[in-house]
Amino acid sequence: MASISLRNVVKQYGHGAKANPVIHGVNAEIQDGEFVVIVGPSGCGKSTLLRMVAGLEEISGGEIAIGGRVVNDVEPADRDIAMVFQNYALYPHMSVFENMAYGLKIRKLRAEDIQTRVDKAARILELGHLLQRKPRELSGGQRQRVAMGRAIVRDPQVFLFDEPLSNLDAKLRVQTRLEIQGLHRELGVTALFVTHDQVEAMTLAQRIIVMNAGRMEQFGTPEEVYSRP
Ligand code: ADP
Ligand code: ADP
Repeated sequence: MASISLRNVVKQYGHGAKANPVIHGVNAEIQDGEFVVIVGPSGCGKSTLLRMVAGLEEISGGEIAIGGRVVNDVEPADRDIAMVFQNYALYPHMSVFENMAYGLKIRKLRAEDIQTRVDKAARILELGHLLQRKPRELSGGQRQRVAMGRAIVRDPQVFLFDEPLSNLDAKLRVQTRLEIQGLHRELGVTALFVTHDQVEAMTLAQRIIVMNAGRMEQFGTPEEVYSRP
């Protein structure tokens, strides 16, 4: 588990006359194990903020620290972060097991260790009976669980979700939401979840960050945020 500190985080795309400031000094302390949702309209800077936490986007000013370590000081391979995207891409020619194991093989983990981690993820996501299948033999919901499995096996301290429910039909959206909640409970990780959907935010969040035009307008529990006049 790890806390996330955002200290006066600033982002602008481009330079000089073409500079486009998109994040204007965000401050927030996210606790160990907390589930925080970043909500706000399209274009307000949610994805940019999340990608900066993931270390996928350069920070123009301020600082982001995870578990007390400044993100940009940590080698990408050593960052205990897993990101789940809107569109899950699995390797079509690999089995479910191989899809989940691939990232660990690259990191040269021992075969037994890989087996243990994949088994644990498969148990949590109820994929145990599907490990030898290929992605094309799975339902949409099962494929999505494999994609989450690939994140879980890395044993991350922090889970980042970028609108993972947006492209799903209503039934799969509810099912996946419940899975994400179960995952958070079971693993006790810190979660940062981006969405433009207020209902999703209220259902999932312990605390909500409300963004608007690159600024953090509110940060509080769903009750605090949505009881305001
Ligand atoms: P959200 O996730 O809330 O929809 P984004 O973080 O994607 O918002 O975008 C915030 C702003 O930054 C938008 O105005 C967007 O056009 C701009 N933006 C995002 N990515 C880039 C980029 N790579 N280059 C230039 N501008 C970008
Ligand atoms: P999202 O809100 O999920 O980021 P977008 O359609 O805003 O979706 O952005 C899709 C991709 O295009 C992102 O990788 C983002 O960085 C990039 N992007 C968004 N706006 C701009 C922009 N104005 N200039 C260049 N790239 C952009």
